[in-house]
Amino acid sequence: MKIAVIGTGYVGLVTGTCFSETGVNVVCVDKDTDKILKLKTGQVPIFEPGLEPILKRNIEKGRLLFTSDIKEAIVDSEVIFIAVGTPPGEDGSADLKHVLAVASEIGQEITGYVVVATKSTVPVGTAEKIRKTIQTELDKRNSPVSFDMASNPEFLKEGAAVEDFLRPERIIIGVDNEKTGETMRRLYQPFVLNNHPVLFMDIASAELTKYAANAMLATRISFINEMANLCDILGADINMVRRGIGSDSRIGSKFIYPGSGYGGSCFPKDVKAIIKTAGDLGYELNVIKAVEKANDFQKNVIFNKIHSYFDGSLKGKTIGIWGLSFKPKTDDTRESSSIHLINRLIDSGAVIRAYDPEAMEEAKKQTGDKIYYATDQYDAVKGADAMALMTEWAEFHLPDFKKMADLMNSNVIFDGRNIYDPAELQRNGFEYFGIGRR
Ligand code: NAD
Repeated sequence: MKIAVIGTGYVGLVTGTCFSETGVNVVCVDKDTDKILKLKTGQVPIFEPGLEPILKRNIEKGRLLFTSDIKEAIVDSEVIFIAVGTPPGEDGSADLKHVLAVASEIGQEITGYVVVATKSTVPVGTAEKIRKTIQTELDKRNSPVSFDMASNPEFLKEGAAVEDFLRPERIIIGVDNEKTGETMRRLYQPFVLNNHPVLFMDIASAELTKYAANAMLATRISFINEMANLCDILGADINMVRRGIGSDSRIGSKFIYPGSGYGGSCFPKDVKAIIKTAGDLGYELNVIKAVEKANDFQKNVIFNKIHSYFDGSLKGKTIGIWGLSFKPKTDDTRESSSIHLINRLIDSGAVIRAYDPEAMEEAKKQTGDKIYYATDQYDAVKGADAMALMTEWAEFHLPDFKKMADLMNSNVIFDGRNIYDPAELQRNGFEYFGIGRR
C-alpha cells in the first residue's frame, strides 16, 4: 500500500512516520524545502520524543520518502492525507487557505482513484469544499478520475505524539460510503490490535468531534482554573478540592490541573473556530465563550501576582523564567502562556532571564533579543528578584533550592503550574505563590 501525507508539521510528520512503521510506503510532502532537506537526511525539525529513531529506521528501509513535489508523492497513492495548518483567521474562523491550496494541487495532479482524507482540524463542511475544489480542477482538464473524501481528525498530544499515534484510544473516521471506510479500516488495522475502537460516522460528525473534544478539554481547564482562583480568594487549597472532586468517577481526575491557562496550536484556535462556526449559523455557544474568556483571564494570573508583589513597580526587576514551551516535552511555543507573561513583564520594564530545555530556538522567533537566553535553569535565576515556573518540564520539579537561594537576589517563586510544595519552599527560605494554594 502507498499513501501520501501533505504537510510535515507535528501532525503530518508523526502520521507519515508511524504509518511507514507498519510497512506502508509513505511519501511526505511539504512546501518548506529546508524542512524537506533536513528530513531526507533523517533530521527531525521538531522536538517530539521517540520520533527520530522510527523516522530513521523507515528512511533506511526505503519506506519513508520526503519531497516538495506533490505530483511525485501522490502517484499511485491509495490515500492522500491533508495535514497542513489551519491557523485562526482574523475573525476567529479556521483559515482554510493551505487546505484548499492543497486540494487544488491534488485536483491538478491525480491520475487515478484515490481517497482524500483530512487530518487537519477543519470546520464542518470543509470536506465538501475540498471535494468541490478537486472536482473543479478535474473538470478543467476533462479528467474522468474519481475520488472519495474521508474525515480523519487527529487526537495526538504533542510530547506524546508517537505513543498516541501508535496506540490510539480511538480512531475517528468520517465517510460517506463503504468502500472508503474499508480502505481506511485496512490502513488503521495495525493500530487497533489492542481492541481500541475505530469509530465510523458521517463526515460532518467526524469533523465536529475534533472540535467538541478540544472544547470539552478546554472547558475542564478553565473550570479548574476558576476554582483555583476562588481558592486564592477564600483561602482554600485547590489540590485538596481537585482530589475531592476527581475521586468522583463521574468527574475523574484527568485534565483538572490548574495553571496559567491553556496555550498551544490547538485549543485556543479550535475554541475560537467552533464559536465562530456556531455564531455564523446564529447559535451562541455560551459555555465555550466563557471558557475562552476565563482562559484570557488566566493567562494574566501570574503576571498579576508578580505585579502586585512588587507593588506595581516592575521597572528594572529581574525575573527568571523556567519554561517557554506551551507544555512540557515539546518545543512548540505557539500561544504559550510563558511567552505571554514575558511580553507583559517586558512591557512593564522588567528584565527577563529565561531557560527552556528544548524550546529556546522556537521562543527566539517570538521574543528575539528582548530577553536573555540562559545556559541552564540556574543561570536563569542569577541575580533574579523572582523566579516564575511556567512549563512543568521534569527537570524543574526537584531543583537545588539551596543553589537557587545563593544565586537569586531575593528568594521568591511564582509557580504557574503548581508543581512545588509550598511548605518545602518555605523551609528552604522561599516565599511561594502558586495558583489556589494555601
Ligand atoms: P504545523 O504548522 O506544525 O505544520 C503544517 C505544515 O504544513 C508546515 O510544515 C507547512 O510548511 C506545511 N504546508 C502548508 N501549506 C502547504 C502546502 N500547500 N503544501 C505542502 N505543505 C504545506 O501544523 P500542525 O501542528 O502539524 O497541525 C496541522 C493540523 O493538524 C492543524 O489543522 C492542527 O489544528 C491539527 N492538529 C494539530 C495537533 C497538534 O498537536 N499540533 C493535534 C491534532 C490536530
